[in-house]
Amino acid sequence: MTIFELSKEHRKGYKLPHYNIETQEINIPGHLLRKEKPKIPEVTEIDVVRHYTNLATKNYAVDVGFYPLGSCTMKYNPKINEDVSNFEGFTMIHPHQPQETVQGALKLMFELKEMLCEITGMDEMTLQPSAGAHGELTGILITRAYHLSRGDHKRKKAIVPDSAHGTNPASAAMAGYDVIEIKSGPDGRIDLKALEEALDDEVAVLMLTNPNTLGLFEKDILKIAEMVHNAGALLYYDGANLNALLGRTRPGDMGFDIVHLNLHKTFSTPHGMGGPGSGPVGVKKFLSEFLPVPILTKDSKNNYKLDYSRKNSIGTMRSYYGNFNVMVRAYAYIKSMGKDGLKQVGEMAVLNANYLRKKIEKIMPIAYPDVCMHEFVATCEQLTKETGVKALDIAKRLLDYGFHAPTMYFPLIVHEDFMIEPTETESKDTLDKFAEVLETIFKEAREKSELVKNAPYTTPVKRLDDVTASRKPIFRFKFGEG
Ligand SMILES: *Cc1c(COP(=O)(O)O)cnc(C)c1O
Repeated sequence: MTIFELSKEHRKGYKLPHYNIETQEINIPGHLLRKEKPKIPEVTEIDVVRHYTNLATKNYAVDVGFYPLGSCTMKYNPKINEDVSNFEGFTMIHPHQPQETVQGALKLMFELKEMLCEITGMDEMTLQPSAGAHGELTGILITRAYHLSRGDHKRKKAIVPDSAHGTNPASAAMAGYDVIEIKSGPDGRIDLKALEEALDDEVAVLMLTNPNTLGLFEKDILKIAEMVHNAGALLYYDGANLNALLGRTRPGDMGFDIVHLNLHKTFSTPHGMGGPGSGPVGVKKFLSEFLPVPILTKDSKNNYKLDYSRKNSIGTMRSYYGNFNVMVRAYAYIKSMGKDGLKQVGEMAVLNANYLRKKIEKIMPIAYPDVCMHEFVATCEQLTKETGVKALDIAKRLLDYGFHAPTMYFPLIVHEDFMIEPTETESKDTLDKFAEVLETIFKEAREKSELVKNAPYTTPVKRLDDVTASRKPIFRFKFGEG
């Protein structure tokens, strides 16, 4: 039921102060006036509270339980960051305010970008893009601006490994590049030979994630950087998920020229379902002239300014300066963790992933059995052959046991797989319990497969028609149609 269906005429949950305004003083032309009352739900305060509280309890969240959604970094977001982002000084300002009245906000953004530059090993950064994919597009447009500025017009190709996140080829294609996919080697890493063959003077960029989407570290990264640069191309780092590297190593030191980050993954903003995000893009010095305007600067008197005067800029990527409140959370997160805390995040994320990997490898084989970074990919292909129970069924059954399902059927080069990312904040008890439940489900699949195939049984909704949901999505409530 929606809040609109709860509406009853004249029910109210508010009281407005009385103002003495003479109605005839307000002269609004008749054609601008509504003919009907706006369709705003008429509900009492308790109706609203109960409606949303009930909805919230139907949802699964990281504040409810274990959420091992690989690649998404559904980590616990410390509440202090929420508190700080709700400070009135941050929530009550407006992007049209004169710059001298929002110096604190500009200072926060300036310091955030400096800290992110230090964390990534980059020289300059924009905080403008509002998501990872948006950051990728920004980075690829910078790539294009760079090549064109050198009069190099023949570079039309972007290389993307077959294990890449789907947004990588999509962003490159959106910027007008032909996407060249290269196959991973037998160990799940970049195949240097395949890369060598793909690299020529038409390649603009190689987009890479390290650790890659299989959770494996590209050990040959320095060699890869050298090959790419020798071919005159740029090296792009998809840093949506920086959890494994935090405080340990930096994309800038690996030879990457451009980096995007997802503040809403690594730096503590609750995400999923299209909430506000932030995808800052960092570049090495030789690319900084192409960054989107405005650029945040500081003058000798410590006045913070928004500089619109960069003539080689790719332009503006979105309204104003980005999702400011996501930046506040990231700032609070970095400041409260400190250097040692961030390093510990990286270490614990990797330790937890490897602990869980070893716990479940005998139950669900690991696709590329090697020491992993923050995540790993396991497959139940054998079980599917034996019993007909698919990864999807196991994922649904996990819900009955109170766990959110891991990412499934991704990356595309592994079949019937789970991509598991436990994140740094989970205890050994939680990881043990998860492995135990997975073992139980595999046993159920072998002994009474129908039980698993028809799961879940305990959730507010059972199996959803996800094909229709994505092919014919309904985004709007229509009055009178339920
Ligand atoms: C999540 C993710 C992205 C895309 O980020 P969005 O904010 O969802 O656009 C890109 N690459 C990787 C590796 C990711 O995990």
